[in-house]
Amino acid sequence: MRNISDISSYISENSKMLDSSGIRKVFDLAQKIENPINLSIGQPDFDIPEEIKEEAIKAIRNGFNKYTVTQGIEPLREKVVDFVNLKKKTKYTVDQCIITSGVSGGLVLSFLATLNRGDEVIIFDPYFVMYKHLVNLFGGKSIVIDIYPDFSLANKKDKITKAITEKTKMIILNSPANPTGKLLTEDDIVEIYHIAKENNLLVISDEIYDEFIYNGKLVSIASYYPEGTILMGGFSKTYAMTGWRIGYALGPTEIIKEMIKLQQYTFVCAPSFAQYASLKALDYDMSEYIENYRKKRDLVVEGLKENFNFVKPEGAFYIFPSPKEIHDTGEFVGKCVSEGILIIPGNVFSERNTHFRLSFAASDSTIEKGLEKMNKIYRSML
Ligand code: PLP
Repeated sequence: MRNISDISSYISENSKMLDSSGIRKVFDLAQKIENPINLSIGQPDFDIPEEIKEEAIKAIRNGFNKYTVTQGIEPLREKVVDFVNLKKKTKYTVDQCIITSGVSGGLVLSFLATLNRGDEVIIFDPYFVMYKHLVNLFGGKSIVIDIYPDFSLANKKDKITKAITEKTKMIILNSPANPTGKLLTEDDIVEIYHIAKENNLLVISDEIYDEFIYNGKLVSIASYYPEGTILMGGFSKTYAMTGWRIGYALGPTEIIKEMIKLQQYTFVCAPSFAQYASLKALDYDMSEYIENYRKKRDLVVEGLKENFNFVKPEGAFYIFPSPKEIHDTGEFVGKCVSEGILIIPGNVFSERNTHFRLSFAASDSTIEKGLEKMNKIYRSML
């Protein structure tokens, strides 16, 4: 029998299943530390460009403050479709597009639209935290495939094929990836395309970091496999508008239709003023900002190379290193955090705890200070 004096007995099993303790520990500690060197942040350190801010203010002043149509305003859907088709060699039409409350919103809707209890979803480890937990939350089962140490999908065909059962419904791709910065090659994409096609699997391709690319070229699986792909993209990272909550999903018309129906009963619509401002954002050239992030990537690579093993990030703004001679990475991360350098332990993104995530979405001086201190801590532990 439940008792209202024990309010925890009212928490759902689904909610209890979610564990956010790893990241929370770092953030809780961050609260207590004065002037931390914060290398844990998942959003750019620059602000939204002024012209885009002005557009949002103008939209608010012009009264675009009400609900919009559930699927997103027509001009933005049209523009997103043109933008994606040009950039990713796809042939989407407007009815295959929904504007979502960030990619997070898109992920929720796509899982709700497609997963039945017990459906298996393949995710690659290390993974973006939300995938594993959301899949489980919506009744699916995350099947985790380890892709250490190179975080590449090349030569993993056997491993992937072996993980496929009659219950497998979906594979999730994320390129460039959080937390590794890895960009999938065209060969990787073609291999996944063949596996997905042969086994009739859906693919969710999370391309939220598609503008943050430093080496190589983004290839979207949607250009090979439009019939089975739900492509997700967003404005959060590219334009530093994480708080405005705008993303999009493109995919087979029938699935997008279901997602629109589900959005009607959940998020209702993406924020109205931000949809109008996003129209302007798509015209804005962010290449200078990205160039700046390439320099930050190089700074981090230089600063870590002596004492850490890592795969050089080709995109996004994270690196996922492991200390060379220290075997207890957890202890190393703990020491860094207690000395004010905020990095995230690898087990937040992985079944292992051999690595850690460092975000270079920070000022150059913060990065430099952090690297210097981390190397010092490393040496003190030898
Ligand atoms: N996908 C990945 C890989 C991310 O790293 C993030 C944010 O950290 C998201 C999706 C969610 O982004 P949004 O702000 O669009 O919900």
